[in-house]
Parts: sequence; structure tokens; C-alpha cells
Amino acid sequence: MNKTSSTIYDYAIIGAGAAGLHLAHAMLAEEWFADKSILVVEKTTKEVDDRTWSFWEKGAGTWDNILTKSWAKGFFYGKDEEIPLALAPYQYKMIRSIDFYQLGKKTIMAAPNMHWQLEEVQSVKRTGAILNIQGQQNTYQAKQIFDSRITQAFINGQKDHISLIQHFKGWIIETKKPVFDPDSFVMMDYRVKKGLATSFTYVLPTSSTRAMVEFTLFDQEVLAASDYDIYLKKYIKEILKIDDYQIVHEEIGTIPMTSFPFHEANEAGILKIGTAGSWVKPSSGYAFKNIEKLAKQVVSNLKNNKPPSTNLLSKQFRFYDALYLDVLARENELGESIFTDMYRHNSIQQIFKFLDEETTVLENFRIFFSFRFAPFLKALWRWIF
Ligand SMILES: Cc1cc2nc3c(=O)[nH]c(=O)nc-3n(C[C@H](O)[C@H](O)[C@H](O)COP(=O)(O)OP(=O)(O)OC[C@H]3O[C@@H](n4cnc5c(N)ncnc54)[C@H](O)[C@@H]3O)c2cc1C
Repeated sequence: MNKTSSTIYDYAIIGAGAAGLHLAHAMLAEEWFADKSILVVEKTTKEVDDRTWSFWEKGAGTWDNILTKSWAKGFFYGKDEEIPLALAPYQYKMIRSIDFYQLGKKTIMAAPNMHWQLEEVQSVKRTGAILNIQGQQNTYQAKQIFDSRITQAFINGQKDHISLIQHFKGWIIETKKPVFDPDSFVMMDYRVKKGLATSFTYVLPTSSTRAMVEFTLFDQEVLAASDYDIYLKKYIKEILKIDDYQIVHEEIGTIPMTSFPFHEANEAGILKIGTAGSWVKPSSGYAFKNIEKLAKQVVSNLKNNKPPSTNLLSKQFRFYDALYLDVLARENELGESIFTDMYRHNSIQQIFKFLDEETTVLENFRIFFSFRFAPFLKALWRWIF
């Protein structure tokens, strides 16, 4: 859309990452927003393939036309056991961030009511009901802001909250000989670990000669970039039994796994979104699908004239997540047995439903009964007393 210096946007989205783009997309999908002016301000060009998203969903999904691959079956591996996972009606899907960014940016730029602005936002200030967004070069005005910037309070430290880091490094490797089954992926494999830490590898094969192999830890300190290589090489050699391969792409990253209440930074006219709004599942780090769901909820709230934060976060599931984080923060070596118990005693459909926060209280109890109680009871005891 054409903008003038006096434009007061109905909505402004700060940050066009997973949350900003999901939200813009959800708005574009609704006729109700056709006469609303929407600004998207992003500090980078979004031309770097900086992450690979995996997620599960039932049947066909919105992003199927840009998927890299999807799988209907997979495996979980504990130290001494193999658990096959038949996912139907779910599928496990993989999408390259660059494909999502390109589609999102192109769609926003083509939309008559949206304006894409490349600029870093420095601050947001309020004048009455109008919010002034101060960029490096320009100032913009909006009536409602959706903000992906993480609050400084979290960046400064979060001693009062339980925090782990999901940290990982992945390689896309190519082999000359066909060695992978492209129809089957590995969700978690605990056969290679860093000492006793909660650490595992997952494998996403996109063909018989190409796969993403990623070593992941849920604990408190990131490793030096080269340290992840030790475990990746060990897994490829000892578990996959591959000697001859080429690394064609690499990703490294961290995801906060925390009970920090990011959403408390919401204020009138400003809704924090994505990681900055507690939209990332603290216990798993899964974000992509959760963000899509919450972006649709925000759109529905706006359409129905409700505050945009209505029905976004579940207190019940945030409590379960915090309890589990407490256990892992104190007894990190229990990660393997917690996940093995979960996969051994519950169907993958029930696990996905639980992680999607769609299970009933009764179903949740059934899942809790599959875990060994003691560490969770100890965590509960600490909370109560
Ligand atoms: C390497 C990696 C792999 C991952 N894999 C998975 C996965 O497989 N499945 C899954 O569900 N989740 C995964 N995640 C987690 C998930 O990608 C993130 O949690 C998700 O991207 C969070 O979305 P977001 O919009 O909050 O943040 P981001 O996607 O990081 O987007 C934030 C955006 O805001 C912009 N921005 C920040 N500050 C400003 C500013 N001041 N002005 C303007 N723009 C600004 C940034 O440039 C960025 O584009 C992964 C994360 C990483 C890092």
C-alpha cells in the first residue's frame, strides 16, 4: 500500500519471523481485514535460510505447497529400545525457513492493504490512544501493535523463573550410496548422549542419500560450536553407520525453555507475539504450529471485538510445563527416562494431542501415570512448600 507520513495504521506488526508472518498471513486470509491498513516492520531482508522447522499436523495444512518433506511414520529410540511411530492421521512435516520467509514477504508486498518496511524498531511510545513506533530512520503510527521483540527483562536475566536452553546443531548430509529410508524419520534417539545430560539426535531424511541430522540438548549451557560436531560425527558413524558423506548445510541455534512470563509485557494496544509473547511451548521448544494456532486466535479475537490476548495461553498447561522444566533443571539426567516412559506407554497420537494442549484433564492424568512419579512429586512438593 502507499503510505504517507500521516498514515495511522490500524495494525503494525514488528518483526516478520515465524510469528509476524503467521499473523500477517492469518489476517490476509480473512476478508474482515481487507479495509484495515497493516504495517510490517522487519529489521532484516529475510533472505537467509536460518532454520528448518519441523512440526506435526493432521492431514493437509496451510503450508503444504512449500514443504520440503513429510513423513507418516518414524521411530523413537531409547538406550535399549526401538519404538515405531505410525502417525496417521498426523504427519510430521519439514519446512525450510527461507521458503516460508519468501512466500510471506512476497504475499505481504502484493497485498493492497499491507506495507512492508525494512527498518529496525528502536522504541514504541504512546500518545493517547496512538502508538508511535520509532525506527532507525522513520516514525510510524498505529492503533494496535503486535511486537516480536523480546522484553529486556528476559534478556537481563530471569533468576525467579525456571529456565533451560534447548541448544542444537544440525547438518544436512549427502551420501553417494542410498542409506536412508526417506519414508521414515527419527523423532528422538538417545543412543548417543553427552554424558548424562538430556541429549538426543533426530534424523529427517529427505531422500535415500540426503538427511538432516541434528544433535540437541535440553540443559543449562550451550556448547562451543565445534563440540556438537563430536556427537554428530559419533551418531553418523556408530548409529547410522555412514563413513562417507558430505555436509551440505549446517544450522545451529538455541530456543529458550522457560517458565518466564513473557506475556506479562503485554499492555493496552501492544500484544507481544512469538517467543516474546510466551507462544513457544516451554517444554518442547516447538513453536511453528503453536504460533500458527495462536495467530489465528488473535485474528478471531480482533474480528469478534475481543482483546487480542483472549484465550491465548492455558494456565493448566503452563503449570505442567513448569513442573517438567523444574524436574529437568534439577535432575537433568532424567530426560531420557521421562521421554522413554512417555513414548513407551502412550500412542503418538495421544502424545501429539497432549503437546498441542488439546487433551482433557482425564487424558492428561493417563499421560502422567505413564511417568515415574517421584521426581514430579518432589517438584510439586517444592512448589507447594
Ligand atoms: C535454528 C532453529 C531451529 C528451530 N527449529 C524449530 C522446529 O523445528 N520446530 C519448531 O516448532 N520451532 C523451531 N524453532 C523455534 C522457532 O523457530 C522459533 O521459536 C520461532 O522462530 C519464534 O518465532 P518469533 O517470530 O518469535 O521469532 P523469530 O522467528 O526469530 O522472528 C523475530 C523477527 O523479529 C525481527 N526483529 C527483532 N527485533 C526487531 C526490531 N527491533 N525491529 C524490527 N524487527 C525486529 C527479527 O529480525 C525476526 O525476523 C527453531 C529455532 C531455531 C533458532
